[in-house]
Amino acid sequence: MKIICIGRNYVDHAKELNNPLPTKPIIFMKPPTALLIDDRPFYYPDFTKNLHHEAEIVLKICKNGRHVEPQFASTYYQEIGFGIDFTARDLQDQLKAKGHPWEIAKAFDFSAPISRFISLDSIPDRNNIHFRMTKNGETVQEGSTADLIFSFDQLICHISRFFRLQIGDYIFTGTPAGVGPVQIGDTLVGSIEDNELLTCEIK
Ligand code: ZN
Repeated sequence: MKIICIGRNYVDHAKELNNPLPTKPIIFMKPPTALLIDDRPFYYPDFTKNLHHEAEIVLKICKNGRHVEPQFASTYYQEIGFGIDFTARDLQDQLKAKGHPWEIAKAFDFSAPISRFISLDSIPDRNNIHFRMTKNGETVQEGSTADLIFSFDQLICHISRFFRLQIGDYIFTGTPAGVGPVQIGDTLVGSIEDNELLTCEIK
């Protein structure tokens, strides 16, 4: 199992971090040890003083394949879930400034909480899936797949040119605006449409 993540896939988020809009999807990965499931708490790591939440829709890959053609892309995922791409923003800024890889800022242990999954059949319009995350009861991030720069299908095609997709892989599809810091004691709750899917306590 691998966790593939997409950076800057919503215009408003790219702007809030003063990043140019990508012309191709920006891909990075997290190892299986990044996974955090079953609403287990997240323990604030000692190597950062600016841990950010990034609320994202996660695709679960249900078919093996490489070089996927556009007309078949949608058959590679049938379920979506809610994920948080935890990011040590202070480390990431230092690494970006030096042109170094991001892994220690993005792919550390338990940096990828993922919820249970729901069937896409239960979603009325795949091109306008609304999702939202609250911090201590207040909405901090809200988005819709209508605002994606690269659609789920485009991501499947692009990723599979480089990495063989395998059943059980996860794809984090990018975060909308509103990323921000979390503190010990915070509770994050993520929903897709009206389904509350993920709770993550910061300890
Ligand atoms: Zn992200």
